[in-house]
Amino acid sequence: MTEIIIDSYLCSGCATCAEMCPQVFRMDPVSEKAELIRVNPPVTDDVYQAAAFCPEKCIEIKE
Ligand code: SF4
Repeated sequence: MTEIIIDSYLCSGCATCAEMCPQVFRMDPVSEKAELIRVNPPVTDDVYQAAAFCPEKCIEIKE
């Protein structure tokens, strides 16, 4: 199964992923880091695009 992993340590909190793909990513209001809205969301093209645009390259998609 395809898995999305966010490296919270590297995440700068820029919110690009949450803006590009709000059905999968959101910003944690406390840590101000990106998180998944739910466990094992469907990995659509939007997810790959958000990962590609992440300036810290901290969104990993494991096939
Ligand atoms: S795009 Fe990357 S650095 Fe920006 S909030 Fe999302 S995971 Fe963090």
